[in-house]
Amino acid sequence: MRRTLFEDVHEDFRASWRMFLAREVLGEEGRYGEWERAGIVPREVFARAGQGGFLGMAVPERYGGAGTEDFRFNLVIGEEAQRVGVGSVGLGITLHNDICLPYFLRYCTEEQRERWLSRIASGELITALAMTEPGMGSDLAAMSTRARREGDHYVVDGAKTFITNGINADLVIVAVKTGAGGHQDRHRGISLLVVERGTEGFERGRNLQKIGQHAQDTAELSFMQARVPVENLLGQEGEGFRYLVSNLPQERLSIAAAAVSAAEAALEWTLGYVRERQAFGQAIGSFQNSRFVLAQLHGETQIARTFVDRCARALNAGELTPEDAATAKWWTTELQGRVLDRCLQLHGGYGYMLEYPIARAYADARVTRIYGGANEIMLEIVGRSLGL
Ligand SMILES: Cc1cc2nc3c(=O)[nH]c(=O)nc-3n(C[C@H](O)[C@H](O)[C@H](O)COP(=O)(O)OP(=O)(O)OC[C@H]3O[C@@H](n4cnc5c(N)ncnc54)[C@H](O)[C@@H]3O)c2cc1C
Repeated sequence: MRRTLFEDVHEDFRASWRMFLAREVLGEEGRYGEWERAGIVPREVFARAGQGGFLGMAVPERYGGAGTEDFRFNLVIGEEAQRVGVGSVGLGITLHNDICLPYFLRYCTEEQRERWLSRIASGELITALAMTEPGMGSDLAAMSTRARREGDHYVVDGAKTFITNGINADLVIVAVKTGAGGHQDRHRGISLLVVERGTEGFERGRNLQKIGQHAQDTAELSFMQARVPVENLLGQEGEGFRYLVSNLPQERLSIAAAAVSAAEAALEWTLGYVRERQAFGQAIGSFQNSRFVLAQLHGETQIARTFVDRCARALNAGELTPEDAATAKWWTTELQGRVLDRCLQLHGGYGYMLEYPIARAYADARVTRIYGGANEIMLEIVGRSLGL
C-alpha cells in the first residue's frame, strides 16, 4: 500500500540520512561491528549526525536547530536505521531527538535554553533520561532517588539503572523525589533535574551486558550526595510526574514506528533469502507454508504501519492520546516479536548466526516489549480508557 505520510522534503531528508548511515555507520568512516563489540557508539557519531542536520530538528533556528516541529523527520531516522540493521545506533539518536529533547524544548527557562539547546542540536551534548531504578521501573511513583534543597543546590542520593546513552550522556534528566513522600504525595513529589557530566557525587556504573542492542550503551548511574545547582531544575518543582506522563505518547510512538520498520526490514531480508535458498530441489519460498507465513506477516505489518502513520499525523496535530500511543506501542512491538521470530525460522540455522542481520534484529527486538513501559502497562492504559 502506498504511504501518504511523507512529502518530498522528508524523502530528501531520508536520502541524506541513508547516505550518512552508509558512510558513517556501515562503510568508509563507520565500524558498526566494532561498536557492537565495544558496546557503545563513539561520541563523534553524534557530532557528525549534528553536523549533518540529523539531531535536534525541532530546536528553534535561533539556537542552531532546523526549527521544524514535524515528527515525520524524527520517524525517518528510526525507520532507516532499522532498514539497514543498525537499530542500536538509531536507538541512541532517537532517544536524544524524540524522547529527551521535548523536555528541554518545553520546560527550559530562557537561560537554560541558551546554555544547552544549540549544543544538543550539534551533538556536542548527548542526552539521557533516567527514571528507572534497581527497585522499580513500571511503578514510577515508587521511586526512591531523593533530592533535598540545600541553599542554591539540590543534594541527590539514589541510583538509576538501564539508562540508554548512560555512558555517553553529558546531560541526564533525572527523575527525583523532592516531596516529603507519603501516599498523598506519590505523584506530586517528583521533579526533574538535569545532571551534568562532571557533577560532584554523580558516578556512572557498568555499561550493562545485554542480549541485543549491542552498540547501545545502557548504564547504571549513582548519586551520592550529588550537588546539582538549582538552576538545573526543569520546569516546576513537584511537577515532574506530569511532565513525564505528557511526553510518554511521543516516546511510545517513536518505539512503535521503529518496531514496524524493524518488521518491514526483516520481511525484506527474508523474502530475498527464501527466493535463493533451495531445499528438496525447490526454493524454500515456494513452499506453501513459507508463502502463507510471509503473506500473513506482510499483511499484519502493513496494517500496523497504517495505524502508526495515523498516530504520527495525530501527534503532529497535537491530538495523539495516551491510549492510542499505548495501543500503537503494544501492538507493533508484539508484531515485531512475531515477525522476527518467524522470519528467523525461515532462515534455518543461518538465522541463528550473528553475521546475518536477522539474528541481530531478533535479539534487538526483545526489549521493545519491555522498555518505554512494559506492554502490560500499555494494556492497563488502554483498559482504563475503556472505563474499566
Ligand atoms: C535496554 C533497555 C533500555 C532502557 N532504557 C531506559 C532509559 O533510557 N531510561 C529509563 O528510565 N529506563 C530505561 N529502561 C527501563 C525500562 O523502561 C523498564 O525496564 C521498564 O519500564 C520495566 O520496568 P522494570 O524493568 O522495573 O520491570 P517491573 O516494573 O519490575 O515489571 C516486570 C514485569 O512485571 C509485570 N508488571 C509490572 N507491573 C504490572 C502491572 N501493573 N500489571 C501487570 N503486569 C505488570 C510486567 O510483565 C513487567 O514486564 C530501559 C530498559 C532496557 C532493558
